[in-house]
Amino acid sequence: MSSAFPLLRSASPVPEAERAAVLAAPGFGRHFTDHMASALWTPQAGWHNRQVTAVRPFSLHPASSVLHYAQEVFEGLKAYRHADGSIWLFRPERNAQRFIRSAGRMGLPPLPEDDFLASIEALVRADEAWVPVATTQESLYLRPFMFASEPFLGVRPAEQVTYAVIASPAQSYFASARGGVTLWVSTAYTRAGQGGTGAAKCGGNYGAGVAAQVEAERHGCDQVLYLDGLDEEAFVEEAGTMNLFLVTSRGELVTPALGTILDGVTRDTVLALATEFDLTPVERPVPFRELCVGIADGTVTEVFAAGTAAVITPVLGIKSTRRTLTVADGEPGKQTQALRDRVLGIQYGRSEDTHGWLRHVR
Ligand SMILES: *Cc1c(COP(=O)(O)O)cnc(C)c1O
Repeated sequence: MSSAFPLLRSASPVPEAERAAVLAAPGFGRHFTDHMASALWTPQAGWHNRQVTAVRPFSLHPASSVLHYAQEVFEGLKAYRHADGSIWLFRPERNAQRFIRSAGRMGLPPLPEDDFLASIEALVRADEAWVPVATTQESLYLRPFMFASEPFLGVRPAEQVTYAVIASPAQSYFASARGGVTLWVSTAYTRAGQGGTGAAKCGGNYGAGVAAQVEAERHGCDQVLYLDGLDEEAFVEEAGTMNLFLVTSRGELVTPALGTILDGVTRDTVLALATEFDLTPVERPVPFRELCVGIADGTVTEVFAAGTAAVITPVLGIKSTRRTLTVADGEPGKQTQALRDRVLGIQYGRSEDTHGWLRHVR
């Protein structure tokens, strides 16, 4: 079966001047392009109705399973414009593969990797005028997602599933003046348990995280740092939307092992690049206490968080009900900045793509 997504061009695209105004200050996730990609799945027909159309509201029956039982998964990746005008994706195959794993966890059908890539490329080509010229870190953020659209109130795998991709021009997710973030260690909430949905990129994980995010902000922090339990003997998991890394005075780049955390593309990228910076990549369980002691005695020299939206974000401080810790001198670390420059350099075509991570779209 063909995985082509034919284009039915929008009859009323955003006027050029309005688009230019949006691209001048896109923010994050507030403005959307002219088109969307979509497809439908049923057990009888499999994936069908592949298309790229004008972006438009869904019409959903109020009994649609997603509205009741949160059968939904998503992805997030970006299209980057290089200096010569060409447009590229960064390791989209990994997003496609993770989308299949997330769907499996939520009882949703797998979308073949070819369909995932074809839908994204078709949408980016239709909306290529929306891919910003990068002056600092602008890109076109792509949001593929899938949900149970069958009107049925029983609990079982849905027999009608909708897949779609929307696109939103974006600048850096954390436009923080301080050049980094502070993390609140929640001892009221966890994000995942063994055998739960922590490794799936599903909307439900985010819905459950809103209360913790509110708590973090109430304590003057930007994001939550989740532990795997509710006391300080627990292990570090990840931030709300990003994986966590520590740089140690022994030249290690340490990140919590996979299991209940999200297998981030940026996480894998940073681990693969570590040796270029004379860092030894280490994936292992990280006790929260070890993180605190290391920050206090200087053996943890840098902390950062990694994810597509914010790339690599320095963590300047960590706060909990019992302590307030400043990482090193409270400024972004050297290795953090070097890794960030290298990742951005590859993504924007300024630095050699030694791993073959870029995929040409236009
Ligand atoms: C998406 C996500 C990440 C980052 O993954 P990337 O593939 O690097 O964007 C980290 N943690 C959570 C919970 C996520 O949903």
